[in-house]
Amino acid sequence: MVLIEGLTKVFRQGGREVVALDDVHLSVRAGEIFGIIGLSGAGKSTLVRCINLLERPDRGRIEVDGLEMTSLDARALRAARRRIGMVFQHFHLLRSRSVMGNVAFPLEIAGVPRAQIRRRVMELLELVGLADRADAYPSELSGGQRQRVGIARALAPEPKVLLCDEPTSALDAETTTSILELLRDINRTLGITVLLITHELPVVQAICHRVAVMADARVQEVGDTASIITRPRSQAGRRLVGAAA
Ligand code: ATP
Ligand code: MG
Repeated sequence: MVLIEGLTKVFRQGGREVVALDDVHLSVRAGEIFGIIGLSGAGKSTLVRCINLLERPDRGRIEVDGLEMTSLDARALRAARRRIGMVFQHFHLLRSRSVMGNVAFPLEIAGVPRAQIRRRVMELLELVGLADRADAYPSELSGGQRQRVGIARALAPEPKVLLCDEPTSALDAETTTSILELLRDINRTLGITVLLITHELPVVQAICHRVAVMADARVQEVGDTASIITRPRSQAGRRLVGAAA
């Protein structure tokens, strides 16, 4: 579903070079919940931003659902991005729009007819458990509810894959559990592939089928969640598991 080969990204800032991704290879299968775990600065966010080309990689290939992202013209890229939903740590909701308005936003941009938008938005709010808050504004919601809106908005264009960058890092433990359960339900019932970025091992443990450990701009190891947790092979993996124990 998501195929990454030789991905390299270097940031240049006033003569200084930061290698954020160094020859990253990754293959995420259709229908799985795939975790990427790593400490701050490992390159996780840069990796997800490269997948939908919010960030232009210096080298490498990125394929999403059979489409080679780096070969697309602007119009084809816009269409391809609709297959990729994004969920953020700090939700990134539009403050001036209601819950319904936020979820409707990507559909309005895509030119979906009004009546259809309303129906689709209500379905999505039902799915995330916020049907009774359609007219509320983000400022009136809890963090967990805001993230539910973020997830509903990401699902609106019917993506094939959901990229979640630290979706629970701003939430308490209990709310984290409920958001992770929601992501698992979405994966199961809608068959959407989920790529989940986190620095917390319990998050991976809760819902990921497989996981990649990232450190120093590289993928250090990939494996089933259970084997990474019980038998991490890389130094970075051992450090993460040790820190959580
Ligand atoms: P965190 O867990 O803190 O979110 P991360 O794993 O997501 O970290 P990235 O945000 O991908 O890490 O950053 C990887 C490296 O690239 C860091 O050294 C960071 O400072 C650098 N970096 C990221 N974005 C930029 C940018 N726009 N300009 C310059 N350097 C950047
Ligand atoms: Mg990050």
